[in-house]
Amino acid sequence: MADLLIRNATLPDGRTGVDVLAADGRIVNVARAIDAAAATTVDAGGRLLTPPFVDAHFHLDSTLTYGLPRVNESGTLLEGIALWGELKPQLMQDAVVERALAYCDWAVGRGLLAIRSHVDVCDPRLLAVEALLHVREKVKPYLDLQLVAFPQDGVLRSKGALDNLKRALAMGVDVVGGIPHFERTMGDGARSVRVLCEIAAEEGRLVDMHCDETDDPHSRHIETLALETERLGLQGRVTGSHLTSMHSMDNYYVSKLIPLIVEAGVSAVANPLINIAIQGRHDTYPKRRGMTRVPELMAAGVTVAFGHDCVMDPWYALGSADMLEVAAMGLHVAHMTSQAEMRACFDAVTVNAARILHLDGYGIAPGRRADFVLLQARDPVEALRLRATRLMVFRGGRLVAESPPAVATLHLDGRPPRVDWTRPA
Ligand SMILES: [Zn+2]
Repeated sequence: MADLLIRNATLPDGRTGVDVLAADGRIVNVARAIDAAAATTVDAGGRLLTPPFVDAHFHLDSTLTYGLPRVNESGTLLEGIALWGELKPQLMQDAVVERALAYCDWAVGRGLLAIRSHVDVCDPRLLAVEALLHVREKVKPYLDLQLVAFPQDGVLRSKGALDNLKRALAMGVDVVGGIPHFERTMGDGARSVRVLCEIAAEEGRLVDMHCDETDDPHSRHIETLALETERLGLQGRVTGSHLTSMHSMDNYYVSKLIPLIVEAGVSAVANPLINIAIQGRHDTYPKRRGMTRVPELMAAGVTVAFGHDCVMDPWYALGSADMLEVAAMGLHVAHMTSQAEMRACFDAVTVNAARILHLDGYGIAPGRRADFVLLQARDPVEALRLRATRLMVFRGGRLVAESPPAVATLHLDGRPPRVDWTRPA
C-alpha cells in the first residue's frame, strides 16, 4: 500500500481534480481519480497543492540579529554592512546555530523547504561557515540548505578574504559568491568577478554574486559576469543577485545588456522587500524603486527568482520566511499585475528558484520527491492575494508542518458565521 494519497487538488499549472499518490518518499502517480489506497488520505477540497517554496537568496548567518548591537538608522545598505562589521567579532557559534535553526523552523511552517544562503567568509575564524555547515546537516531531513561563500567586505578589498573563501569551499560550502560593487573601484570589481568565476570553473561550482546592488546606473558588473560566464563555459551555472543598478540604467544600454545575459545563460534574483527598502535612499523625489527589470528579463527568457534576502537583521527589521509576502511585494514593485504576470511571480518563489539552485527531484510529477504544500487558496493568484495559510507541508511524503485555516467568526445577525476571504464559488 502507498503511504500518502492527496485527493482533488488544484496544481499551479491550472489542472484541477488531481490526485497525487506517494510511496517511499517519492511521487508515484499524478492523475484524476487514482484507483489506489494509502495509509493516509487527505482531501484537498479543490485547494492549491504546490511544490514547496524555494528562497534563492538569503543570509542565514545574520538572521534574527535585529537590534544587535544597534539598529540601522539610515536604512541604507552601507550602514547595514558597517553594523554587521560591528557585530561580526562578537558572534558566537552556538548563537548563530540557534538563530539559523529557529529561522529554518519558521521556514518549514511556511512551506519553504529549500534555501540558498550566503555565508560571510571575511571573518578569518570562519565561525559562521562552521555554524551553517552544522545547520545544513541538521536540517537535511526536512530542508535543503545550499551555502554560498560570500566575501561581504569584498574579496579583493578585505585582507585574506580570497584565502578564506577558498577554505570555506574546501570545508564544504557549495557555491562561489562575490560583491563586485563593494570593491574599491570599478576595475577591482571587474577583476573580482574574473577571479571568482575562474575559481568556480576550476572547481566545478555554481556562482551567485551580489551584483550591482546600487542605484549607480554605471555599475555594470553584470556585463562582466555574463562575459566571464561565456568565456569560462559556465552557462546555466551563474546567478546575478540584486542587479538593482539595471533599474537606473540607460534604456539603450539595457537593450544591449539583456541579450548578453540571455546568451550567457545567467539567471537573476531580485529581492523585492530589501530592494524597495534599501534602494533609492539617496534620492529626494521622485524616489527610484531600485528593483531590477524583472518583467523585461523574464520576457527575454532569463530565469528570474525572488529572494527574501534578510529577516530581522542589520538590513531589514521585518519578515517571517513568507515567500508569498516576497512575491506579492515583487509583483507590486514591478507592476506585474496581469493574471499571467502574477502567476510568473508565484513561479519566481517556486519553480524558477528551484532551477537556480539546481534542485534535484523538484516538482509535482511521478518520480519526484513527495514534497508539496497544501494552501488555503484555489490558485496561485489567490495564494498571493491572501498570503495563504499553509494548511499542510509534506517532505518526502511525511507531514512536517500544519496550520489551522485562517477564518474569522462573525457576530453579525443574518450573515454567515464564518468568513475565510477565499473567492466565493
Ligand atoms: Zn544578499
